[in-house]
Amino acid sequence: MTSVAKKSVIVIGGGIAGLTAGALIASEGFKVTLLEAHSQIGGCAGTFRRGPFVFDVGATQVAGFENGGIHERIFRHLRCPLPLAEILDPACIVHLGDGTSPIHLWHDPKKWQKEREEQFPGSDQFWSLCSQLHKSNWSFASNDPILPVQNFWDLIQFLKAGRSMNAFTGLFTRSSVADLLWLCSCNQDQRLRRFLDLQLKLYSQVPTEQTAALYGATVLQMAQSPLGLWHLKGSMQTLSNHLLSGFMRYGGELLLRHKVVSLVAKNSRDPWTINVVTENSLSKQFQASDVIFTLPPQCLLSLMSDQTGLPIKYRYRLEELSQPSGAIVFYGAISRSYLPLDWVGHVQLMTEKLGSLFISISHDGDGRAPLGKATVIASCFTDITTWTSLAESDYQKHKDINLHNILEILHSELHIGPDTWLHKELATPNSFARWTGRPQGIVGGLGQTPTTFGPFGLPSRTPMQGLWLCGDSIYPGEGTAGVSQSAVMACRQLMSEYGRDFNLTR
Ligand SMILES: Cc1cc2nc3c(=O)[nH]c(=O)nc-3n(C[C@H](O)[C@H](O)[C@H](O)COP(=O)(O)OP(=O)(O)OC[C@H]3O[C@@H](n4cnc5c(N)ncnc54)[C@H](O)[C@@H]3O)c2cc1C
Repeated sequence: MTSVAKKSVIVIGGGIAGLTAGALIASEGFKVTLLEAHSQIGGCAGTFRRGPFVFDVGATQVAGFENGGIHERIFRHLRCPLPLAEILDPACIVHLGDGTSPIHLWHDPKKWQKEREEQFPGSDQFWSLCSQLHKSNWSFASNDPILPVQNFWDLIQFLKAGRSMNAFTGLFTRSSVADLLWLCSCNQDQRLRRFLDLQLKLYSQVPTEQTAALYGATVLQMAQSPLGLWHLKGSMQTLSNHLLSGFMRYGGELLLRHKVVSLVAKNSRDPWTINVVTENSLSKQFQASDVIFTLPPQCLLSLMSDQTGLPIKYRYRLEELSQPSGAIVFYGAISRSYLPLDWVGHVQLMTEKLGSLFISISHDGDGRAPLGKATVIASCFTDITTWTSLAESDYQKHKDINLHNILEILHSELHIGPDTWLHKELATPNSFARWTGRPQGIVGGLGQTPTTFGPFGLPSRTPMQGLWLCGDSIYPGEGTAGVSQSAVMACRQLMSEYGRDFNLTR
């Protein structure tokens, strides 16, 4: 076993992926420095304040808080308390926008089954196929597999994790959720299709036709016991803050307002040089044996110019990654009395102008708004190319039109007038680019199609020794639970290079 006492690891990015990776590596005795460009941690799962209101920037609900869930296991491993959270039940109320009754995603599997039977008669076979695939997937994912496999060690880990998977699952590796519908003779059910399109797009960035069957089967069952979706007490920031406590507890060093501007791979004992610009425009240089890179992998294209060690073939691979979406997010505050009684937690609306609008409403007394008031966050996907090509004056116009469209929908659904808002503002891809440093404000990873998910995705192990990727472009994909799982994978690989067998507590 190689001593790790002097091995220094730099983690780039203080979102959930970076904080998780940093805390885990630090807990193993490595010297870890986390470089974060912003003045606060959290990234897409951070928060900001406006007067008495606290808004979750991006993520508003979390998976993996149940016993044995990825966040729970990480906090248990770090011997740190899990942030306080309550289960969302229903996890979401989905309005298909066709005048039919909304669909409630209940936590209790029996209640959810009854809801499905009433809402989508004749679809039992589809759901039971999804359930079988999900069970097999889940037992695989819970063994912390390494995907995609890049070397012999990865292969062994993959095979170990795959022992519990049933062979039947393998048949569906190249299938889409639409194929599952077809197999179960549900492909003509337009209402079911509409529901699946809405839900799947949230998690996989693509509709039913393009969502990988194995991925879709699992995300369609995230809301039900024994899993579930959770609402954090206080705000989303508590997740980052708790991870940071774990990181600090094991001696990790956090440097805020340290923006990485380039990475250079050398061939010496300390192969990586990381160049940083601080808030006061000071240039700083860091050396590290390993770098855990949590920014979208496309960022490497600008951070590693020619002659910095980025292999040409890998550059091409990064250049050819699919174009992710951007997001438009409305942050509003309102008196609770204006909210319909059944508008609790999360509501998804199918709208003509904006497609899916996902609405998150704070709970009374949850720390986001004073009692009797609520924060209302409404988000939808947007094509980033329409935003990046705009001149400044057109940008403002486009932003105003989008704000108007979201407000129009909310006013009509809530039967309220424009003066009702106690606060309102809109974030565009440009805002996300500023807040998170994501190029052009891309969010949510690479999409989960049969050709890009799991074994066919971008590996966390790069062709450059000591450079590890994690975050929402890496298996198993977006979401705080997903990026945490990817951080565990990168940490396992990194530690195996030092002869360390790192396994998360079960
Ligand atoms: C609108 C929206 C809604 C979402 N809803 C949910 C949800 O309800 N539930 C859920 O689980 N997930 C949700 N997600 C997804 C989830 O937020 C992300 O998958 C996850 O937070 C990504 O974490 P990350 O650490 O990989 O990346 P990020 O959060 O992007 O973190 C990267 C960090 O790197 C920093 N950084 C960037 N450039 C540099 C640089 N050059 N040098 C140093 N630091 C740098 C950034 O400031 C940032 O802090 C949502 C995302 C969005 C955008």
